[in-house]
Amino acid sequence: MEYQTILEHIYQEIQPLAKEGKQADYIPALAKVNPDQFGLCLRLMKGKVYELGAADVRFSIQSISKVFSLAMTLSLKGEALWDRVGVEPSGSAFNSLVQLEYEHGKPRNPFINAGAIVTSDILLSHYGREQAETVFLEFVRALCGNNDICYNPEVAESEQSTGYLNASIAYLLKYHHNIENDIHDVLHLYFMMCSVEMNCRELSQAFLAFARSNAPFNHGGIELTMSQVKRINAIMQTCGFYDEAGEFSFKVGLPGKSGVGGGIVALYPSRYAITVWSPRLNEKGNSILGMKALELFTTETSESIF
Ligand code: GLN
Repeated sequence: MEYQTILEHIYQEIQPLAKEGKQADYIPALAKVNPDQFGLCLRLMKGKVYELGAADVRFSIQSISKVFSLAMTLSLKGEALWDRVGVEPSGSAFNSLVQLEYEHGKPRNPFINAGAIVTSDILLSHYGREQAETVFLEFVRALCGNNDICYNPEVAESEQSTGYLNASIAYLLKYHHNIENDIHDVLHLYFMMCSVEMNCRELSQAFLAFARSNAPFNHGGIELTMSQVKRINAIMQTCGFYDEAGEFSFKVGLPGKSGVGGGIVALYPSRYAITVWSPRLNEKGNSILGMKALELFTTETSESIF
């Protein structure tokens, strides 16, 4: 298939949307990012790589980090993880408190903020304060074979200083005994994980590990069975885009995960991983150009899982 030609065609097709939406500004450090950037990287399981635009520019992965923390906690806890966090789509915003209140402090899934604050707590209990940050970064570095991937403490600090809603979520979780550690420490780890910076090339490499469904997963000391990897993909399919998960499934037809830094990763098991980055977001917090480019990609290549 002429992937490069298709990608360049898609790049032209999305141009009418290029000025729609704006970058996340509730995190002050993210408001400073130039919104008019676009990158894409497609990595085939067989090894070929195709790129567009700023595929090598790093950005804040934000909620894409929730896939990595889920992988780590599932590896640590196995089935017991599901006592503390569910696997149902939330149908509500990523930072919503409402459902958490009437469901007595058990987050719907690990990809909304409440769920990822619980997985942060699990990592903290297991590794302790300093080690948790180190082990998380080592895992991400191992996944993409690149040792200079780092946290951006300025972004984490910026979010912590305005993160009232996430703090409210953490307090509600603690009230319901679903947080074991000090709230400040849990939020610090959560914000640090969100602040990791990667580019499209590195994210596509990292997510090929989740697309590989014919061998057990073992990266940076984190081990998962083939079934666990499939289940992570299932949660990406149903919960990866918050209250737009149905829309993404409907239009793109792949498991994936977005973040408010404007990145979206999607994968086709056994075939490819693709990452798109563009900071302008829609009202649900998902990249406008990213969503459109992926919809066109699976339509024009006829390569979606359905
Ligand atoms: N750090 C962000 C937050 O907690 C992540 C949100 C996202 O990417 N959807 O609000």
